[in-house]
Amino acid sequence: MNKKAIVIGAGFAGISAATTLANKGYQVTVLEKNETPGGRARAFSAEGFTFDMGPSWYWMPDVFEQYFNTFGKSASDYYTLRRLDPSYTISFGKNDNLAIPAALPALFQLFETLEKGSSKALENFLEQAAYKYQVGMRQLVYKPGRSLLEFSSPGLLLDVLRMDVFVSFHKHIRKFFRHKKILQLMEFPILFLGAVPQNTPALYSLMNYADIKLGTWYPMGGMHEIVKGMVRLAEDQGVTFIYNQNVKHFRILDDKIQQVNTQTDSFEADVVVGGADYHHLEQQILPPAYRNYSAKYWEERTMAPSSLLFYLGINKKLKELTHHNLFFDRDFMPHAKEIYENPQWPTDPLFYVSAPSVTDPSVAPEGCENLFMLMPVAPGLEDTEEIREKYFNILLERLEHITGQEIRQHIIFKKSYAHRNFEQDYNAFKGNAYGLANTLKQTAILKPSIKSSKIKNLYFTGQLTVPGPGVPPSLISGQVVAAEIMKDF
Ligand SMILES: Cc1cc2nc3c(=O)[nH]c(=O)nc-3n(C[C@H](O)[C@H](O)[C@H](O)COP(=O)(O)OP(=O)(O)OC[C@H]3O[C@@H](n4cnc5c(N)ncnc54)[C@H](O)[C@@H]3O)c2cc1C
Repeated sequence: MNKKAIVIGAGFAGISAATTLANKGYQVTVLEKNETPGGRARAFSAEGFTFDMGPSWYWMPDVFEQYFNTFGKSASDYYTLRRLDPSYTISFGKNDNLAIPAALPALFQLFETLEKGSSKALENFLEQAAYKYQVGMRQLVYKPGRSLLEFSSPGLLLDVLRMDVFVSFHKHIRKFFRHKKILQLMEFPILFLGAVPQNTPALYSLMNYADIKLGTWYPMGGMHEIVKGMVRLAEDQGVTFIYNQNVKHFRILDDKIQQVNTQTDSFEADVVVGGADYHHLEQQILPPAYRNYSAKYWEERTMAPSSLLFYLGINKKLKELTHHNLFFDRDFMPHAKEIYENPQWPTDPLFYVSAPSVTDPSVAPEGCENLFMLMPVAPGLEDTEEIREKYFNILLERLEHITGQEIRQHIIFKKSYAHRNFEQDYNAFKGNAYGLANTLKQTAILKPSIKSSKIKNLYFTGQLTVPGPGVPPSLISGQVVAAEIMKDF
């Protein structure tokens, strides 16, 4: 008889773990509390618009391709990718925009116009970043992080030392560049890791390699097309998805989970993979005696930020917007401090606007624009309608001012999303959006372990464990946990 695996949560990590286990002969059932798959990458439709609810940046296409290749498929069997050019635009103020070209020669030229000699510096920087990306992706991110011994081969140790693990990204980047705009452009990818450049190992300049060399892509139809493709593939491998199943309780016997119980049903299990937020599963569902960590441990973690989001349908086409638009017209450090050091709603925030309808007419009615506005914010804050509305007005006024157009009167659909929704929809600790920050103290074996130390058949996956937050890492996390299960059983 095939072993029964129950996977909790149909986010990227859960689907990836489920598909990998099914491919190896497990009988896999995914229990998902929401009525559709994708977790933070769900989508919804309203008034003819289709909104991606979470991720909007498709980076590291190689990771997706490798994932599909594992099952003899290609990403192109499920969705059509388009490389964006410009990759994105950074706005430093009205009439002060930097469109980042996809082609490297054009980027070198742009750097040179800002800082003499910086194109050569970029070349050197990218050479190092390429090495980090290759070693990082081949040797580090697929490590389960269960023991230091995983990193003990002399070759790997040498590689790790060459990868600037103990230098901050902030320091590293200043060895190459001086111009403020270049520094901001180069530090932006670090924000994806949920931490500030000062606390992020320079190892993560591999993110710049991903940005500049591998490019920014978009799956036509929206990011949720990836989820649809992954679910189709999972079902082809024999995975069963059951929605509206909120896992509430485990029946534990002899230090093993025998049964996973939802609000309505019970499921027998030989092995259980927790793809829901780690904190929720172990602090709210597991009885105290079976927890890996204490409440204090979780309180002391550096969570990646939460987000205040607005999904907007606009009944006209907008000018001065590309697909991805970063509004860096304010100083980042005060906002960063209000996220990490002294958590509070920001005084003068930075924000991001995605306009996928610039690339993809299918996500908005003809002649309309689909906007997604995101303001990063500390997790665990009070979240009220009044606060959301206050920031909506701030962001919209800045957007109108910088792009020089009237937008407010043209909004025909508006929905906000923040801490309360992350908690309600995903059981997110403190309403976090992106999981656990990738700081040095929360890297590899220092992340919450993918294996329970108290329950023999319980594993964890997703953005709160290895390798970290983001869609590609979550995909990898599912593969890593499946490989560990195969090893252990
Ligand atoms: C606003 C936003 C923007 C982002 N932008 C990007 C981006 O541009 N690019 C990028 O790469 N990444 C981005 N990310 C990060 C990326 O989306 C996440 O890292 C990734 O989707 C996390 O996947 P996961 O499987 O770990 O978790 P989730 O997607 O949260 O999946 C967990 C699943 O478990 C379910 N669940 C929870 N509790 C239970 C329970 N008790 N029983 C059953 N099911 C349960 C949840 O409903 C959910 O479906 C963004 C995230 C957000 C929120």
